[in-house]
Amino acid sequence: MARNYRRAKFRQVHPRLFAFEGHMSICAIEEKLFGAAVGLIRWSKNASPLSRHGPGPAVLEPKLHLPENDTEQGQLAGLPQAQGDDNPRDSVETQAEGVWRVRTYPMIGKEPWGPCDEQCPPGGPCSHKTDEELRALEESPLGQDKIFTLIDTVTMTATIFTAAWPPQALIACGTEGGIERVLVCSYDWTTGTLFKEAVLRFPGKILESMHRLPSIRLGLRRTW
Ligand SMILES: [Zn+2]
Repeated sequence: MARNYRRAKFRQVHPRLFAFEGHMSICAIEEKLFGAAVGLIRWSKNASPLSRHGPGPAVLEPKLHLPENDTEQGQLAGLPQAQGDDNPRDSVETQAEGVWRVRTYPMIGKEPWGPCDEQCPPGGPCSHKTDEELRALEESPLGQDKIFTLIDTVTMTATIFTAAWPPQALIACGTEGGIERVLVCSYDWTTGTLFKEAVLRFPGKILESMHRLPSIRLGLRRTW
């Protein structure tokens, strides 16, 4: 079943954003969404202050620039093996088809409460929230920060963030470095006002699936 999912291509996807209170592993989320852990959803890299990222498994990418042996035309294919061996600064490898490749470690999102990494000082407090801390937050009193998880089926990412009141809308209202700043808002129906609960970062393509609003009432902080 999982293999079939991985080979499938998405056609006519209707994008959805939805959130739930609390947190659970990607496997548990996928089991509830797809019926099995199919490996389609990942943790976002830095969408919220609780997000974590780090170098993922090595991949071999085509090398675009050879510092010493490059030509102006960028001819990379077909260089003799000896020139690659003379360049020990990075691990250039060659494939059977003669394309130079370099080993890189792309950044990937990590489970926010997952195992400690080099960011956590030895013996000191963690740089991230632990599972116990997240569970404690989930039982906080009314009006104090709780943990929510947002699933984005456009970028197929999951993000955890804190909000005091249940979020009901995402308002994209600014951009920085090509990344949208999105306000996660709760709604007060007595005054028809959206209140900012958290600020997340999302890639710009999420805007293509959003509607434009002529005007909204926005409060930056609840006073009760
Ligand atoms: Zn840690």
